[in-house]
Amino acid sequence: MSPSRFSHKGLHCEGISEGGIRTSLIVPTWRLMFDIGVLPIDTIRIENLLLTHGHLDHSIGVPYYISQRSLQNLKPPNVYLPDRIYETYKKILSEYEILEGFQYRYNLHPVTEKKMFDLSGHLSFQAFPTHHRVPSLGYTIYEKTKKLKKEYIDLEKSELIRLKENGVLVSETRSVPMMSFSGDTRIEYVLENEDVRNSKILVLECTYLDSSRDVKRAREWGHIHLDEIVNHADEFENEKIVLIHFSKRYHPKKIPAMVEEKLPDSLKGRVHCFLPDRFL
Ligand SMILES: [Zn+2]
Ligand SMILES: [Zn+2]
Repeated sequence: MSPSRFSHKGLHCEGISEGGIRTSLIVPTWRLMFDIGVLPIDTIRIENLLLTHGHLDHSIGVPYYISQRSLQNLKPPNVYLPDRIYETYKKILSEYEILEGFQYRYNLHPVTEKKMFDLSGHLSFQAFPTHHRVPSLGYTIYEKTKKLKKEYIDLEKSELIRLKENGVLVSETRSVPMMSFSGDTRIEYVLENEDVRNSKILVLECTYLDSSRDVKRAREWGHIHLDEIVNHADEFENEKIVLIHFSKRYHPKKIPAMVEEKLPDSLKGRVHCFLPDRFL
């Protein structure tokens, strides 16, 4: 399948997502990848991987990614993953090293929920709990921006310069939630986490769309049904909501219309189906 693409205000992401089959999304400018259930060759160049959970449709590429980067003498990648699966991954990777007969070079980071991690000087992330059938986390990426403190907003430029010269800190750094990525989850991931609802872009799984699998069944399997997004439409503060992980039971050609017809006005124009261009 050809890759899917999405851009919003200069931020570009691409990848592939098919529910239960494969999901991986990269944001090249952030040198960041969410999940690796598929191996387009470009992903090898991305040096940070945030893994939501261990289901193979999201994680099968982990050893290959690490192995390829080691063989190509690329910088050891940073692989962030839920702390509850950290030990298992350490074992899996050392078994693969034995099979391959050389040493992998990588940094494996256990992620505890609601703790800030720095990715670079201006980017950080925090994980929020998702509700799936195995240990799992969703990730929110923050951009650090310098803003004038509220009390100085109305001052003239010359006055601000004078204050700065006198050693007054007139600005402060704020972390703005730019993008959240859900992995697989029930809707509670959105409802319980303010920063997820406020992220400028929310990449959200929406595995089921119609009555062939209803909300109850979707929830039993730890997934979101489109009806739940519609029912909670007022909760979403995001500028854009990118739906991923559609079940293979729906033909990609039919998905945009199936989604569009259910969306309330408040969500119309803000929802994007993450599908290859030819299906949009
Ligand atoms: Zn999945
Ligand atoms: Zn899963």
